[in-house]
Amino acid sequence: MEILKVSGVNKAFGGLKALNNVNLAVEEGTVHAIIGPNGAGKSTLLNCFVGRLIPDTGTVMFGDTSLIGLKAHKINQAGVSRVFQTPEIFSDLTLLENVMIPTMAKRDGEFALHAFKRLDRDAEIHDKAMHMLEDVGLAEKKDIVAASLSRGDKRRLELAMCLVQDPKLLLLDEPTAGMSRADTNNTIDLLKRIGDRGITKVVIEHDMHVVFSLADKVSVLAQGTVICEGKPQEIKGDPRVQEAYLGG
Ligand code: ADP
Ligand code: MG
Repeated sequence: MEILKVSGVNKAFGGLKALNNVNLAVEEGTVHAIIGPNGAGKSTLLNCFVGRLIPDTGTVMFGDTSLIGLKAHKINQAGVSRVFQTPEIFSDLTLLENVMIPTMAKRDGEFALHAFKRLDRDAEIHDKAMHMLEDVGLAEKKDIVAASLSRGDKRRLELAMCLVQDPKLLLLDEPTAGMSRADTNNTIDLLKRIGDRGITKVVIEHDMHVVFSLADKVSVLAQGTVICEGKPQEIKGDPRVQEAYLGG
């Protein structure tokens, strides 16, 4: 079954056509990679899935729900979570607090600032957040302020903040960008592990080698258009892909 279906999506910024008739279908329970050179339109496409951008034309369906024009928090409540290209975390708060906030938001339908004082006394929220930190290997750092984390750990924290909301669809924009080789490998391992939960994942990547060990299917975006699709092995040697990267 298709969990996400993108049909005929166009998006222009002034005279620049960032997305040009994009069609894409993501099967439930799979890891679907969208790769392409810098400026191909990957982030723009992802922004159309999460309510940050509205396409000029076309449709984006999440199951039976149209995501076009829905507010970001509604899309999130529907079961779509996103890990951003630049980690969006609460820098001044501890790791535990960072994870408790979305945990509470998920349970209560919202997180109001005045609820912050109650966070520490809420055993259910505390335990769920703690388990999540253990899952991503950050439990020992629970009382550290998020700002002091390495780039890789910030990513892991952000992933925990998404996963704790039990999303049906997880969108990851360049999850290993700027990471050391060791952090990259750790992140790939972590993404493989969370695959066991049956969450559908869309992984955006500039570095095509990162996704080959993860993806069930790959769509290659170049100059705003899907130029080829298939299993990683199929697209690896495709001359159109080589050309897109060399030309990009
Ligand atoms: P990618 O994520 O594949 O590197 P982007 O989606 O960020 O590519 O960008 C695609 C193209 O659209 C690029 O040429 C970029 O400069 C342009 N672009 C992206 N966002 C905006 C914006 N808000 N305003 C104007 N141009 C933009
Ligand atoms: Mg991008």
